[in-house]
Amino acid sequence: KPEGEKKVAEDEVRLSVQQMNSVAAGKEVVVIDGLHGTEGITVAEFYRFSEDGRRRVTFKGDRCTLVDGSVHKVLYRAATMEGTTRYFDANKASMAGRKVVLWPYGGEDDPNESPWAKAHRAVLGGMIQRNQHLLRCVVCGDPVSEHKALVAEVDEEDVELAVGCVHQRCRRPSLRVLGEIRSELFAEFAVLKDFDYEAWILANRHGPSLISQGPGRDGIAYAAWNAAPTGTGRGTWCVRLDLEDGSSGYATERARVVRLGREGALRYAAEMSGNFEKATKARDPWCYTSDRELCGTYSFIAPRLKPGQRLLKCVKAEAAPFTAAIDVAYSSKRNHYTPLVVLMDLETGRPLHIRGLIPLITDPFQLSTFLENWSAAGIEVPPYAVAVVAEDRDFDMLVASSFERGLQVVIDPLVDMRGTPLRGFVVTPTERLAASNLVEAT
Ligand SMILES: [Zn+2]
Repeated sequence: KPEGEKKVAEDEVRLSVQQMNSVAAGKEVVVIDGLHGTEGITVAEFYRFSEDGRRRVTFKGDRCTLVDGSVHKVLYRAATMEGTTRYFDANKASMAGRKVVLWPYGGEDDPNESPWAKAHRAVLGGMIQRNQHLLRCVVCGDPVSEHKALVAEVDEEDVELAVGCVHQRCRRPSLRVLGEIRSELFAEFAVLKDFDYEAWILANRHGPSLISQGPGRDGIAYAAWNAAPTGTGRGTWCVRLDLEDGSSGYATERARVVRLGREGALRYAAEMSGNFEKATKARDPWCYTSDRELCGTYSFIAPRLKPGQRLLKCVKAEAAPFTAAIDVAYSSKRNHYTPLVVLMDLETGRPLHIRGLIPLITDPFQLSTFLENWSAAGIEVPPYAVAVVAEDRDFDMLVASSFERGLQVVIDPLVDMRGTPLRGFVVTPTERLAASNLVEAT
């Protein structure tokens, strides 16, 4: 952006899309199923624009109408003769034994250099320039992250002109294929299907989720999930936790200072002080790590300490007025659960579940590790798209709807070859965790 003009985060992370060739706009190269009574396939090259700029060949659905008014079945449409080889390569089996007639344009001039073709090329160039979402499929609107996805022009009767990327699976006979995408990134991470790289980078601007950095990376751990977090309120009070060394922490939920009304804060503080006392008497006091990362009972935190972390005993809790300074010092900007990715079942459009659980992955670039692990246990993953879960509130909706469908949600699940869970975070409602004493930290 020019100096002085406001920049938004989106500008910083735009994937660069480089146009390698100029768009050929002057010809229609059409693969037609039977033409002039033949049984074979005709590859015909037509002059696209007439002298007054009107289209000489028009398209609708899988039909084209030629200058003489005859209507034919279209198998493929491209900007160049070479472009149609893609179709023949992909359909070798069904083409076997069929006669192919080539009917090239016979004129001396180059249709791509006609004034109308040049004007149309400029129009398409402008549309590509202005498109903020160049890596979205112009047919279905979903992200494109496919090496060799098509670049095509939508140019049909009664349909608005459009140009951009198209999933291989979204191609229709009348799409005018201009070329294809080449991307080393997309080729290397081919398992990241329909993945929105830009959205993932933006979702990571405050760093990875707290849960992915937390303890319990080995074995099965439980990720407490509260359907209605209290910390989202705008109360003017909060709860201060006084620690044994004279410093303090604040009651947090999902790593944000909990904001309550005055009454609520007083009640919450009294309850917590009571818990501290009881726990101390039971020789399992509530503690905070010196870097304020974890809070919980001694028996829960002690085994999870990282090198350099010390434990500070919680002495008492007190209601205190909430200030912006407290928020800055004690709330994390990071999300608790997100960013994550979820696999969406292409067939149903809903989160994909395997053996009754919905897997979520904290690092999409490790997805192939998980797919290989599941496959070794005989778990077949149907066609999917990789969707970004950017914010905790998206995660909440996903978890709530999964529980409604009777499915478990597990973060980074790995299984043994019999399919028995080996590792992962099982997302579990806070009430159920409290009832079963699985974990006491929040
Ligand atoms: Zn598509």
